[in-house]
Parts: sequence; C-alpha cells; structure tokens
Amino acid sequence: MSTQVKSESKNTQPNYENVKAYINQVLGLIEKDHVSTEDAEWITKQTVENFREHVNPGFLEYRKTVTKDTQFAAVEWSDSGSRFKDVNGKEYIDCLGGFGIYNVGHRHPKVVKAVEEQLNRQALHSQDLLDPLRAMLAKILADVTPGDLKYSFFVNSGTEAVEGALKLAKSYSDRTTFIATTRAFHGKSLGSLSGTAKSIFRKPFQPLVNGFRHVQYGDIEMMRKTMEACAITGDDVAAVLLEPIQGEGGIIIPPKDYLKQVRDLCDEFGALLIFDEVQTGMGRSGKMFCAEHYDVVPDIMCLAKAFGGGVMPAGAVVAKEKVFKTWFDNPFIHTTTFGGNPLACAAAIATFNVLIEENLPDRATEVGEYFLQGLKDKALGHEDKVMEIRGKGLMIGIEFHKDEVGYDVSKGMFDEGILVAGTLVNSKTIRIEPPLTIDYKEVDQVIETFGKVLAKVEAK
Ligand SMILES: *Cc1c(COP(=O)(O)O)cnc(C)c1O
Repeated sequence: MSTQVKSESKNTQPNYENVKAYINQVLGLIEKDHVSTEDAEWITKQTVENFREHVNPGFLEYRKTVTKDTQFAAVEWSDSGSRFKDVNGKEYIDCLGGFGIYNVGHRHPKVVKAVEEQLNRQALHSQDLLDPLRAMLAKILADVTPGDLKYSFFVNSGTEAVEGALKLAKSYSDRTTFIATTRAFHGKSLGSLSGTAKSIFRKPFQPLVNGFRHVQYGDIEMMRKTMEACAITGDDVAAVLLEPIQGEGGIIIPPKDYLKQVRDLCDEFGALLIFDEVQTGMGRSGKMFCAEHYDVVPDIMCLAKAFGGGVMPAGAVVAKEKVFKTWFDNPFIHTTTFGGNPLACAAAIATFNVLIEENLPDRATEVGEYFLQGLKDKALGHEDKVMEIRGKGLMIGIEFHKDEVGYDVSKGMFDEGILVAGTLVNSKTIRIEPPLTIDYKEVDQVIETFGKVLAKVEAK
C-alpha cells in the first residue's frame, strides 16, 4: 500500500481513508502474537522510512555508527526477562537495561499483573477526588527511603523529578544558588539541564536557570571553597545536587567519605542536599537506594527510570517534612496531570514488592561482584585498550582509552546478540546495567562474548 498519505502540499486535506487503512494495518500488527516474515519486512521498511522522514534521520546515522553492516535497521518487537527480540526473531541479552529502567526485568509478570488489573478498573484519575494508590505508594516510599524522608510528589520522568526537587529547594528558602558537579547528568529540560554538566547539551540552550555552579565531582575542598565564596558574596547555596554514583558520566563512584562530607558541608552552610537517584535507586547499586551505602540521608531524593518497573513511566520526588511543608499551604503550587496516575502507582507498588520479595538489591551485589570480576579477568592483557572496569552492584562501567575501541566493542557485542551502549556524557565508557534478575548463565555468556570481541578488536 502507499505510505504517502498526504500529498506534496501541506495545504491539501488529509485523505482520511488512506490514514484509516494505514492505522488498521498497524493495529492489526499490535494485535498479533507472532509476525510473519512478510510482516517483519513491512515493519522494518516502515520503521526505517518513517524514522528518516518523520522522526529524525539522525537516529539512523547514529545506529549505523554502533552496528555492523545492515544491522542498523534492527527493529525491536518484544521482550521478557533479561532479553528482547527484534522483529526477525533475533534475541538479545539486554545489558543496557534501557539506561537502567529494567531492574526487575522486562515485563515482570507481577508488575504486568498489577498494571493490567488497575487498567481494567481505572486507568487514570479524576484529577479532583482523592486517588488511593498515590497515597499508598507515598506511604511505602516513606517506609523504604532512608531516614526521615516522608512526603512524595509523583512525576513521569527523571527530568521532572529533578525539576520538582529544584523548585522545592527554591520554595524552602529565598536562596537561588545551586551547586552541581562536573560530568553530572540530571536530565534535559531547562531546569534539570542547568544541573547537567555536558557542554554540547547545554550550550545551544543558554542562558539556562540562573544560579548554577559546577564543581569537580569528588573534590570536597572545591565544594567547600565554593560554598564559602557563595556565602561571602550573598549568593547563598539553596542546594547541592548530586548523583551518589554518576551514571551517564561514566559510572563514577565517589571517594569513600565524599557524600558524608558533602552532607556535613550542606548542614554547616544551611544548604539542602538533593540526591538524584534516578539511575542508582531501586536496587541497582546493591542497596534499595545508593545513599544507604554511604549512610547519608539527603533532604530531597529524585527517583524515576526503574521506579515504574520497566512497565510504566513513573518517578517521584521524596522530601523531608521540614522541606516539603512549604507546599502544604498550596498543593497546586507545582502540579502535573499524569504524575502519580493509578497505572504508574500500581506499577511502582508492584515493583517494590518484587525488589523486596526477590531480594534484588542483594542479588545486584552478588551478581555484580561476579560480573565485575569476570569482565576484569577478560580484560587482562588488554590494558592498551581497556583503561578501567569499575562498578557497584549491577552498575558497571568499562572505560577504554579511546572512543573508537568502545564503539568497536559495542558493535561486536551487538553482532553477538548483546546490547551494551556508551554513556551520554562520556562516550569512552560503556555501561553494563542488566536487569537485576539476570541469571548466571546469561552473565557468563556476556563475559565470554566480551573476551572474544575484545580479542578481535585487539587484533585489528
Ligand atoms: C536518566 C537520568 C535522568 C533523566 O531521566 P529522564 O527520565 O530521561 O528525564 C536524570 N538523572 C539521572 C541520574 C539519570 O540517569
């Protein structure tokens, strides 16, 4: 059938008959359990063509740089557990984990069940009456988060969680300075982007939110000097915004006492401490929340990514009462239509159940140690390519001396059915962030493949 629904000129009426025929073809595919070879060809052709013509051709160019031969056109279709399949039935072990959204695996049956059951009763909320799951999820969060974190505001994404945290910090005091860190990633909407550190993401959109300063991650002396200078100039610091382990920055683990020292510094200068646990939270680092490793309680914590169990987009800003109470008088001061909707809450509640029931934070520690050691063993003798392999729990980064080696390893592994990818801020590092449910056989397969591919890259 013709895919050209509109004729050349944008001014002519759309041909709704053609649109309808196309829609029906697509709905027919969604309905199918199994796609034929013919379907697969049509899906691939349509996907590539429409990415080129209507999404952004840049994605096709990007896919070409991270895959071999014609594999750039691989189109994903279904997923389960630690794996997903493309439309031709080729299976991949997912070691990217959607940048850390699949902590409980792809479509965990218990998360899917909760969402389906909620969907069959009420999908979204009235926006006016009291919705029960929001209240219950907020209580669960108060119970599982560190220290006296107590009140939650729900959102749909990580960047929204950070926006909420920044606004909350501004409401709390009349201060407007924020300290973030080099290599930080907090999202790409204008507020969170102000905290993000990478020039190519920020520069085209400047000026961003006023008052942001970036100091070297891990350098407590620099943080102290900045706090002192801000106090002297009257630019007092509202909050320090930090990832307890930097994810997109390349899996950067802070110096041992750093987070505690930052906590003390914040207390000394009357600044709030915001932990962005969008990537590190929900068991990823080997504790339910990464802050627990360091025995530090932030004033505000941001969650998203795995918070919706890899089934629903969902996030949260959790804060101490002394901070959150500035929003008690007017609960409409900061709102979102979809944040905390019943489907998202059902997914998050079921996700905590799975994380606790299956002991997944501990599992992340155990499997993570095995994985890290296995990768390090395979890198022996390849020190000219591999600079460092580091990680905590199932948040592992492999840093190469050169970007190109990273790309070659990613390509080689994709060819062998394993998805890994670079980080957004630091492309020399590829990350391994599989579901925390990944089994040892799959881990062994990834380690073996890494060794094999690395040897090949070496030989070139
Ligand atoms: C991914 C990420 C974000 C942004 O989340 P989005 O849902 O993509 O907006 C923010 N902070 C951290 C630490 C992240 O890893």
